[in-house]
Amino acid sequence: MLFDTHAHLNDTQYNEDLEEVIERAQTEGVSNMVIVGFDRPTIQRAMELVERYDFMFACVGWHPVDAIDMTDEDLVWIEELTSHPKVVAIGEMGLDYHWDKSPKDIQKEVFRKQIRLAKKVKLPIVIHNREATADIVEILKEEEAEEVGGIMHCFSGSPEVAKECVKMNFYISLGGPVTFKNAKKPKEVAAEIPLEKLLIETDCPYLAPHPYRGKRNEPGYVKLVAEQIAEIKGLTFEEVAKATTQNAKKLFGIK
Ligand SMILES: [Zn+2]
Repeated sequence: MLFDTHAHLNDTQYNEDLEEVIERAQTEGVSNMVIVGFDRPTIQRAMELVERYDFMFACVGWHPVDAIDMTDEDLVWIEELTSHPKVVAIGEMGLDYHWDKSPKDIQKEVFRKQIRLAKKVKLPIVIHNREATADIVEILKEEEAEEVGGIMHCFSGSPEVAKECVKMNFYISLGGPVTFKNAKKPKEVAAEIPLEKLLIETDCPYLAPHPYRGKRNEPGYVKLVAEQIAEIKGLTFEEVAKATTQNAKKLFGIK
């Protein structure tokens, strides 16, 4: 029983073999997944998938890289979608200072608007952070995001920042990088953050874990993430699988 809390099976890279990818995930024990949409086409596709598969849930929002494209209509549309019973979170949202398509001030505004929406509709938020930790933490505090909490998705920061986020009612989600030999910080985070605050994800098609690094990722590989956390924490795979699935269901309000 594994829960991939962040998958982009709505990506066009799965158009040819989606059924096979899903079958492999089920063979590996993946019982649930959250499909994340972050712009018009990917949100639309995420909604199609969750309508078709009962074990999939949706997270809908606007990616910081594309913040400059988000219109007021888009935000209204996202709000409307949150009344759908299978929409369990808003995101991925946040700040991305690696790419400069969207100016920082626009990214911040779009991030704040989505936090406010999440508080209005009472859904947790999924945070994308790239090279913007200090500003993200500041905005989460200023907007009192603690009220809804959520997920620090594919967390790559230090254990200290992870602990600060846990205090703000966020779960720390680890993905493929925790399996990389040279990934010091994710391994430290896996060791120091209690299991009750950890989630697992693939972020597929990106960030495939070892030994698939560089290839297309898929939800079945989330098992490798759970195995790595178990090894680091000195727990059994079953203990990690069970706890992270329980954590995800609690956060998303899934029975
Ligand atoms: Zn993502």
